[in-house]
Amino acid sequence: MVAVEERDMQAVGAWGHNARLDVERIRADFPALEQQVYGRPLVYLDNAATAQKPRSVIEAVCGHYRRDAANVHRAVHALSSRATLAYEEARDRVCRFLNAPARETIVFTRGATEGINLVAYGWGRHHLREGDEILLTEMEHHSNLVPWQLLAQATGAQLRFLRVRRDGTLNLDELDTLLTERTKLVAFTHVSNVLGTINPAATIIDAAHRVGAITLLDAAQSVPHMPVDVQALDVDLLVFSGHKLGGPTSSGALYGKREILESMEPFLAGGDMISSVWLDHAAWNEVPWKFEAGTPAIAEQIGLGAAVEYLTSVGMEAIHAHEQRLTAYALAQLQAIPAVEIYGEAPARAGVISFLVAGIHPHDLAQLLDQEGIAVRAGNHCAQPLHRVLDQVATCRASFYLYNTEAEVDALVAGIRRAQRFFGVE
Ligand code: PLP
Repeated sequence: MVAVEERDMQAVGAWGHNARLDVERIRADFPALEQQVYGRPLVYLDNAATAQKPRSVIEAVCGHYRRDAANVHRAVHALSSRATLAYEEARDRVCRFLNAPARETIVFTRGATEGINLVAYGWGRHHLREGDEILLTEMEHHSNLVPWQLLAQATGAQLRFLRVRRDGTLNLDELDTLLTERTKLVAFTHVSNVLGTINPAATIIDAAHRVGAITLLDAAQSVPHMPVDVQALDVDLLVFSGHKLGGPTSSGALYGKREILESMEPFLAGGDMISSVWLDHAAWNEVPWKFEAGTPAIAEQIGLGAAVEYLTSVGMEAIHAHEQRLTAYALAQLQAIPAVEIYGEAPARAGVISFLVAGIHPHDLAQLLDQEGIAVRAGNHCAQPLHRVLDQVATCRASFYLYNTEAEVDALVAGIRRAQRFFGVE
């Protein structure tokens, strides 16, 4: 049996217990939160889908377009060198944010999905063959499932799955049998975007390494909310999306150990990813630019740099502690309504709560809440296989970020009670 490592236990709940956020001051940094929706103050609880943007990010993006709109890495003129400097500085900021060992280990992508596809094509198609195995989990977002299905079809590799237990945790007991010398890659989510479960990443990574497999961590739901240190985790590859941490859409990064990135082939081909080109062949640029073909998302990655600086200035430990407190409060309030069923009871859980209210379809509930200015998500949250495990087609999901308050949780709970009265299912 694989025991959960001390490092994973420490990573949960132990950070910054005493750190308190000045949430009102933080809220003032997010212009979108000032608005009213249908005449009611916006209560934005769809942060697992995307986060609101602080003023510093909006300014960084606008500033690029106002002063420095030029292509990067190509021209010698002033605007281009300013744009290049800002774009590459954003890489340094992401590098520090993840505690990556070198800036060259940070590949800019348009988000977690693109990062996973990059690995599936650039690594998978050149390193896997029939009989090899890829270990995933039942709780993956479609983005960390479908690219591996395509890879399996192309290479003859087999997909294997760690199952989810009733409480929303992964069945680690299965690791011993699922991990064999055939396992070449273990790709799994750090935090479930449905159950909120914080998976014991270090434990799974170490177990994978013991059989010689490499690991890919889908950190789309962890990097925005808690300190993530790629060196402490010893993870081989990690992806996240900028828009979920207050950065622009189409920003994000893939972290990779240098030797793994070096062993990969390009994903997209074109300008900037080459060192020299002849009519019939080409040689590749160095890592990470080898994976950044064409004009990149310049303003977006500059905005991402501003977003991680903003989060760092608030403090990731304090953000995590705030969300832990808010989640505990929300769970207690929701559990007090007998008709509410919550999916996911992992002891280590993040600020994502999926639930159903007996007698109300989740889409109807989300629509009624919207009329009161409360934004939640209803659906399968891009996790259809997990919803099959839960035996549900759809759930309602409330997800928190650093700017959410207990008063907003109260508004959600009051909204649910009103919906129960509306449908006559109290
Ligand atoms: N992985 C997880 C766990 C997610 O929650 C998401 C988005 O919801 C993704 C991957 C995909 O992120 P993106 O659509 O930004 O590429």
